[in-house]
Amino acid sequence: MSVLKIKGDRLWDSLMEMAKVGATERGGNCRLALSQEDLAGRKLFMKWCRDAGMEIAFDAIGNLFARREGLDDGLAPIVMGSHLDTQPKGGRFDGIYGVLSGLEVVRSLNDFGITTRQPLEIAVWTNEEGARFTPAMFGSAVFTGALSLQTALDANDAAGISVAESLADIGHHGALPLKRPFDAYFEAHIEQGPILEDNGLPVGVVIGGQAICWLDVQVTGVSAHAGTTPMPLRRDAFFGAAEMAMALEVISQDFAPKGLVTVGQLEIGKSSRNTIPGSIQFTVDLRHHEDPQIHLMEQAVHEGFERIAQRRGLGLEINRHWLSPATPFDPACIAAVREAVEELDYPHQDIVSGAGHDAIHLARHCPTTMIFIPCVGGLSHNEAEDALPGDVRMGCDVLLNAVLRRANRLPD
Ligand SMILES: [Zn+2]
Repeated sequence: MSVLKIKGDRLWDSLMEMAKVGATERGGNCRLALSQEDLAGRKLFMKWCRDAGMEIAFDAIGNLFARREGLDDGLAPIVMGSHLDTQPKGGRFDGIYGVLSGLEVVRSLNDFGITTRQPLEIAVWTNEEGARFTPAMFGSAVFTGALSLQTALDANDAAGISVAESLADIGHHGALPLKRPFDAYFEAHIEQGPILEDNGLPVGVVIGGQAICWLDVQVTGVSAHAGTTPMPLRRDAFFGAAEMAMALEVISQDFAPKGLVTVGQLEIGKSSRNTIPGSIQFTVDLRHHEDPQIHLMEQAVHEGFERIAQRRGLGLEINRHWLSPATPFDPACIAAVREAVEELDYPHQDIVSGAGHDAIHLARHCPTTMIFIPCVGGLSHNEAEDALPGDVRMGCDVLLNAVLRRANRLPD
């Protein structure tokens, strides 16, 4: 199969045009989910889609779908997409790149006069960021059944405004059924990390999302006077927790480079400058590409912490707060991306998604994969988030050719 190429300038111009909607002072974007700014961004996108001959429809949680008919409209659509909402001080590419790359694919197919066998759709998932309403990846969670529609509609923002009210306000809810079948889902996205840039590669072939395990840890010692208690007689919860933190770093080295370990929150109970801490609570975030390994990491945390607590005479409680298994993407979709990037002859590597994406939910619904491009300095969720025009173009070329491969494959 020969390769086709998109128009890089057209895609870049659209990205920059979208970035004017909800622009922030420092060159970023603020389009909180279902806000007036989000509505303005959606409207601009819808105008572009209609200009490209597409039709717009919504489902009950406000996910927006732009559709281009195929040769056989009885077939389930091949869907591209991501999200247009941003963090309060978000960037111009996170999510937007996947949506506008989908649009650029359609525009290019229009240029080439190609109609695919299956219909093509571009999905704009509602509230991916989780900045206004939690949880994140909200629209795709409702679509795929991971979150109930009613729970989602009842969710409130910090001002007490519900999703249901906000949806009614912008009018972007409709009758498209949730969970309707997709032939496949392709999401192009900035990497949001430094790996591709560090390796000097424009394209990442994403093979899946990593497993995540969250632990809540409670260490209990004895509060006592900082001036009157000799060191050997103390049961100091803080020094115990500190030693546990150092043990975590060793665990990360034992599972390097795929194992990641973070203590993101730590609290000294009833803290006081001149009191030995009697109680410490902290969180542990464990990540790994593979499920068996994340279980071994969790086990290592238990064993290491228990040893430390015992030696120091401390109480210890470890509770698992959340476990999200690894999400392998679909081999056939990955192969379509790999063939596309190889035929285009673009430098690339396999990569695992470190962040959550709508594609993680979609992977449980239909054959799914992602395409990553580097972002400057690995920076994301930041007004300074940036991507290079050449990388933006190449990632979208890969999307176009991967979708065409999917569309032209022999029937199952
Ligand atoms: Zn995103």
